[in-house]
Amino acid sequence: MTKDFCEYCGADLPSSTKPVTVHRQRRGRHFIFERVPARVCRGCGERSFAAPVVRAMDRWMKKPKAGFEPTPVPVVEWRACA
Ligand SMILES: [Zn+2]
Repeated sequence: MTKDFCEYCGADLPSSTKPVTVHRQRRGRHFIFERVPARVCRGCGERSFAAPVVRAMDRWMKKPKAGFEPTPVPVVEWRACA
């Protein structure tokens, strides 16, 4: 079920989605999902994802599709660059 109010600030959520970039982690591996449909709160900018969208990302992290080639991404701890 889709929430119609932002759970953080209580503002109305827009009915339409817009594509956003999502960073997630699973078992120490980082995943960046691009152009994920989200309802973005006009009040605070918090992003709300429909349950099937979250489940689709979960499935992908458990089992990426055959032929998917990971892109190397630098991961830098702050103290290494400060
Ligand atoms: Zn909000």
